[in-house]
Amino acid sequence: MTPTAHVIGAGLAGLAAALALTAAGRAVVLHESGPVAGGRCRSYADRELGLTIDNGNHLLLSGNRTALAYLDAIGARATMTGPTRPRFPFMDLGTGRRWTVRPNRGRLAWWVLDPARRVPGTGAADYLRLLHLPRITDDRTVAESLPDNALFRRLVAPLAIAALNTSPDEGLARLLGAVVRETLLAGGAACLPLLPRHSLAASFIDPAIATLRARGAEVRFSHRVAALALEAGRVVGLRGTEGTIPLGPDDAVVLAVPPWVATGLLPGLAVPDAFEAILNLHYATPAVPDPPDVRIAGFVGLIGGMAEWVFAKSTHVSVTISAASRLIDRPSEALAAQVWPEVRTALGFAPDAKLPPCRVVKEKRATFAATAEQDRRRPGAHTGLPNLVLAGDWTATGLPATIEGAIRSGNLASDLLLHPPA
Ligand SMILES: Cc1cc2nc3c(=O)[nH]c(=O)nc-3n(C[C@H](O)[C@H](O)[C@H](O)COP(=O)(O)OP(=O)(O)OC[C@H]3O[C@@H](n4cnc5c(N)ncnc54)[C@H](O)[C@@H]3O)c2cc1C
Repeated sequence: MTPTAHVIGAGLAGLAAALALTAAGRAVVLHESGPVAGGRCRSYADRELGLTIDNGNHLLLSGNRTALAYLDAIGARATMTGPTRPRFPFMDLGTGRRWTVRPNRGRLAWWVLDPARRVPGTGAADYLRLLHLPRITDDRTVAESLPDNALFRRLVAPLAIAALNTSPDEGLARLLGAVVRETLLAGGAACLPLLPRHSLAASFIDPAIATLRARGAEVRFSHRVAALALEAGRVVGLRGTEGTIPLGPDDAVVLAVPPWVATGLLPGLAVPDAFEAILNLHYATPAVPDPPDVRIAGFVGLIGGMAEWVFAKSTHVSVTISAASRLIDRPSEALAAQVWPEVRTALGFAPDAKLPPCRVVKEKRATFAATAEQDRRRPGAHTGLPNLVLAGDWTATGLPATIEGAIRSGNLASDLLLHPPA
């Protein structure tokens, strides 16, 4: 019989693993506890708003090469959109000042010499300090690694909070260093912002499921794996909602579930156990932002408010607030009302534009907290069992919990099954 790989969890890590395994000719069964795939990267029809919305805004940068290869593999690269040149518009809500960070495309970063392209209040020398971020290997936080100056407050801190989903006072500099090495420091061509044109599902999820099915994979939704049957140091069965599925001697398992589920299925597995929330507020109003730079980019970063990033979409406006555990218990209505004036200002709406209907999506455990303590708890893909490997953005990828990290972890898990170490 052809060996079967059972992939548990149809988030991006599980989908990437399943795609890589089917590409190599393996038979794959994908088990997903939810009614749809996508996990923390999903879309749904919101009846009240009358819109398809994403659980949260997800931004890729063109330097996320594994994520782009994933999109290529499922024929979905063209579903992503973004400015043709790297540009990051910002606004300081306290002063009303706007600026756009505009790296040049090449590796030689001459843009830092041009005051019109760099962050106001900064000098070229400030940017040299960023070069040492990727070399950090110790437990320093982002705030401990860089001086508290205009560059930090107006660029590094907003990027760090977005990338790490953890405040710079606690977030690990070495994880941010891994991100900036592959994006900001790799030149402007690696910093092009990319967003799904329609939805996360249309870009990352539906084409992946279609590709898997076309390759003969079996996809089982609403199939929660409740336990792994272990015998003589191997996984011999999966206990799920439909009874026990026995595994053949050459069958293998990729466990691509969130950390709190993984440790339940594999007692004794140390995993990250502290998390940070992300809030997304989706306002049902179309937006054609007034500031041209915001219109071209499709988003704006905000300093000095509650809202951190505002995305202007054709059917609605979405706001992201990261490292948001402090806000998670506030009522949604209050959050929507509090953030709306910031959105109005950021996008150049009329000052009296009324609060539109709003859906607040609170992802309580959006990502593990990117602290030194939590990073040490991230396991590698190996479990010590020959036919069981781990995947997920929370495994030891060297990156923070991101699409890029999740997909890399899925690829690595499939590599380990296809080419087991001798
Ligand atoms: C609001 C928000 C905004 C984000 N923004 C960005 C961004 O801008 N850029 C970026 O790069 N990243 C972003 N991320 C991070 C990104 O979404 C995650 O890193 C990625 O989706 C994690 O994928 P995963 O497969 O590791 O985990 P998950 O998505 O959690 O997948 C795990 C899957 O396992 C399933 N499952 C659980 N238990 C079982 C079981 N017992 N049996 C079977 N299946 C099970 C779950 O239903 C789920 O589908 C964001 C995340 C959130 C929440």
